[in-house]
Amino acid sequence: MTVLRLTSVETLYQQRIRALSGVSLEVAKGEILAVLGQNGAGKTTLLRTIAGLIDDQPEKGGIELDGVQLGRRSPEAIARLGVAYVPEDRGLFRELTVAENLELGLWGRRGTEAREDLERMFSLFPILRERARQQADTLSGGEQQMLAIGRALLRRPRLLLLDEPSLGLAPLVAKAVFEVLAEVSRQGCAILLVEQNARLALRIAHRAAILEAGRVVLSGTARELESHRDVQQAYLGLGETQASDPGRFRLYQSRKRW
Ligand code: ATP
Repeated sequence: MTVLRLTSVETLYQQRIRALSGVSLEVAKGEILAVLGQNGAGKTTLLRTIAGLIDDQPEKGGIELDGVQLGRRSPEAIARLGVAYVPEDRGLFRELTVAENLELGLWGRRGTEAREDLERMFSLFPILRERARQQADTLSGGEQQMLAIGRALLRRPRLLLLDEPSLGLAPLVAKAVFEVLAEVSRQGCAILLVEQNARLALRIAHRAAILEAGRVVLSGTARELESHRDVQQAYLGLGETQASDPGRFRLYQSRKRW
């Protein structure tokens, strides 16, 4: 079941800088779509466009969540429809405690249901319970990322948008965060994951897309992209000799060789 569908989305900055050009992609329930790309490719713009955070954008194209057009709705309306966005800077209230940040994630909900949501989240991130009274800016980078994701999950999102969750984390910590993301997707949440760490992202993603200069230039299953020679060279740091023949993979979108 398709949760998110983008059709030929165009996003402009200042009415003239084209940051996204004809981007079409889909994320199904319980699926992780990894979006990879170099700096400036438009990855953050993609997430901010979906979350409604770029004024008067998208310029063109459709963004549907469970068949409902998000169009140019406000960020609040889009969040209420079930989209949770964890930005690269994590968006935490640094001077508030872990518990206070989580309370904000509950949007004023109290009672049994809210407590169950908290318990479910703590079972994914047990460390947050231990850190509940600690100020957010005293947490380690990994714990802050867990808090940002945990807080987003308290809204029971249909779709989780993540911008570079591994950024600045030690490899083992990043791996632990990604294992939780895999579990979140198994519980049914659709995840759009923007990452520079292609190796880590492809390990948990079901499908992936490569964004270059605002366009999707390649997409397919994570296994297909992992085995694609160009991806191996540009994103996985593998040399020509180790690469396999890309011709044997059927990539359903490959507009150019890059
Ligand atoms: P990075 O990983 O470096 O953040 P990215 O893939 O997320 O890169 P974006 O931040 O989405 O890329 O940027 C895409 C393009 O849009 C870039 O050329 C960037 O310079 C431009 N851009 C981003 N934000 C703005 C803005 N507020 N005004 C004008 N241009 C912008």
